[in-house]
Amino acid sequence: MHILILGGTTEARELAAALADRTGPRVTGATAGRVAQLRVTSSLAGRVAQPRLPEGDVRVGGFGGAAGLAAWLRDEAVDAVIDATHPFAGTISRNAAEAAAEVHVPLLALRRPSWVPVPGDRWHPVGSLDAAAALLPTLGSRIFLTTGRQGLAAFAVLDGLFFLARSVDAPEPPLPRQTEVLLDRGPFTLDGERAVLREHRIDVLVTKDSGGAATAPKLTAARELGLPVVVVRRPEPPVGVPTVPNVPSALGWLAQL
Ligand code: NAP
Repeated sequence: MHILILGGTTEARELAAALADRTGPRVTGATAGRVAQLRVTSSLAGRVAQPRLPEGDVRVGGFGGAAGLAAWLRDEAVDAVIDATHPFAGTISRNAAEAAAEVHVPLLALRRPSWVPVPGDRWHPVGSLDAAAALLPTLGSRIFLTTGRQGLAAFAVLDGLFFLARSVDAPEPPLPRQTEVLLDRGPFTLDGERAVLREHRIDVLVTKDSGGAATAPKLTAARELGLPVVVVRRPEPPVGVPTVPNVPSALGWLAQL
């Protein structure tokens, strides 16, 4: 059985590790022959210069749209696809749904649940980075921008505000005139996030609703300081794709196939 994991997330790496573990030498007894036939390929887009590589086989780079992905599934005799990409990677998820339907390969989406506000949070949900940018001048002047390297052009017009933009690799211009780039990669700690907010005198946080624990401490740190948080809502996922919230559930789905 050949499983394709569309990755670029912690969960995708965890899933690849769990499956590699099952095909490893510790598998013995009656099921060994069956389990050893498992082949797992993880796919990365190639956005990050030095990605954290999943265990097992990895391919890097786009497929060439839904048609390219469908051809790849056919050529590589893929039996199941798990779309474990980031909730904001909407294009690849749509392509996966289209390609899997075309070649009749079962597809599962592995999506970490959205973050949920708790008492004390001052969240401002918005539908896009552009909407986030439009709201910022009404909320503050020293912005901690944690939406990643892509799409920062939406904020480039806001010359009067200071931005601390955090990303794994350096963002490309256009950027707002007053931008300081902070190159860093999660997971982040609560103490670390408190220090960032304090040292840069941040008065507004901007985040995508990425979900998960690795980048959640910034929300706690903002709550403690009573800061407003602009939360960009997730794009709509493709219709009709079964979805699970965690790796054990994805393993359960695979076991049923
Ligand atoms: P996207 O906009 O949904 O996809 C754009 C194109 O990138 C796709 O059409 C596809 O190219 C290629 N692609 C995306 N993910 C791929 C994968 N796992 N394997 C092979 N090709 C892939 O994606 P994105 O938002 O730029 O995200 C790119 C990657 O970064 C994803 O793997 C995602 O999990 C990860 N990531 C994204 C975010 C975010 O905020 N968007 C955050 C953290 C991690 P072709 O059409 O040529 O196949």
